[in-house]
Amino acid sequence: MINRTFRYQESASWFKGNTHLHTTASDGGNTIVEIAELYAEAGYDFIFITDHGVCSNVEQSSPVAPPLLLLNGIELDGQDSKGSYYHVVCLGSVNVIFSNYNLEEAMILAKEQGALRILAHPRWCGNTMEEANRHDFDGVEIYNHVCHWLNGKSDGLTYWDNMLAKNPATLSFAADDAHLLSEHPGFNGGWIVINASELNEESVLKAIKMGQYYSSCGPDFKSIRLQGSILEIETSPVQFIRLAGPGNKGWRTGSFTGNLLTRTSIELPENWDYMYLEIEDGKGKRAWSNTLFV
Ligand SMILES: [Zn+2]
Ligand SMILES: [Zn+2]
Repeated sequence: MINRTFRYQESASWFKGNTHLHTTASDGGNTIVEIAELYAEAGYDFIFITDHGVCSNVEQSSPVAPPLLLLNGIELDGQDSKGSYYHVVCLGSVNVIFSNYNLEEAMILAKEQGALRILAHPRWCGNTMEEANRHDFDGVEIYNHVCHWLNGKSDGLTYWDNMLAKNPATLSFAADDAHLLSEHPGFNGGWIVINASELNEESVLKAIKMGQYYSSCGPDFKSIRLQGSILEIETSPVQFIRLAGPGNKGWRTGSFTGNLLTRTSIELPENWDYMYLEIEDGKGKRAWSNTLFV
């Protein structure tokens, strides 16, 4: 592999956030003030407000001193020109999407305004792999907590692998998609942790665009460092640490005996088109890095 650049340049702090949430502005059960308090109490540093078809305006709708960083976004849904059905989370301030928008036009507008476009819960939508690769999405949800509750179709890892084969820079996200209603309960089940020098809109969006974060449903990466061709990682106590590549390519350490790991070193292969880390704790909860090289 030639000209590869290591993605994780840790020089800063880790901040926990969620990229997919609904409030009373669409079909969520909590106001933006209530959801900010809930997530701050759960240890979050930032959340994106991504109501259905509503461009959030956190500057106008949040309290004077919110307990965490509130960020703008929107969730689009609808059919594209080929009749395929999508949900698409856009991260960033988007302000020209109207209530009766056309999905493809709205996705183009969001991209023009600098938003990141994430294919949301593709398995729950019933998307094909071809559909996942159709619109040059910046990323895909590999775990969606509310879909896990609804019918178990929370897992987007197969889509991510398929998208990585086309674009090895494709980002991955674990997200709550919290609605906090009796028919859509649950939160703090899937999140991201970014590495950024400071906590503000610009630095969070930059870290996400650069892929300087990991996704988790439980365990934590403490550090991901490259020394020559050796990757050194530190984690919260986990049972398994894996390096995944295209197809059946992989490396792993750990055991089924119950002994837990907090660090390992991996001699990285030279010739895989992409690779990412997966860690798994004693309860089977997992976390994933983005692809290690860009
Ligand atoms: Zn959705
Ligand atoms: Zn949603």
